[in-house]
Amino acid sequence: MLIKVLWNGREVDPKEVPDIVQRAIYEEAAQLAQDRVGRIRCPKHNTSATLVLKKASAQKLDFDVRGCCDELADAIHAALK
Ligand SMILES: [Zn+2]
Repeated sequence: MLIKVLWNGREVDPKEVPDIVQRAIYEEAAQLAQDRVGRIRCPKHNTSATLVLKKASAQKLDFDVRGCCDELADAIHAALK
C-alpha cells in the first residue's frame, strides 16, 4: 500500500511534509494505517490501494482511498474504523 499526504493541494510522501510537527503526526498516522490495512487487497481484483491522508491527529484520520473499485475502498474504511 502506498500512503500519501495531501499537503497544500499536492500529494506528498509523509516524510516530505515540511512542517515538523505535522510531519511527525502524519508519519505516525501512515505507520498506523500501514500496520492496520497495508496488507488489504481488493477481493475482486487483487490490487492494493493508495491512501491519501487529508488530515491527521492523534484521535482521527481523515483520508481518501484510491483503488480499483468501491469494494476495496469499503474494505479499507471498515478496517480503519
Ligand atoms: Zn477492485
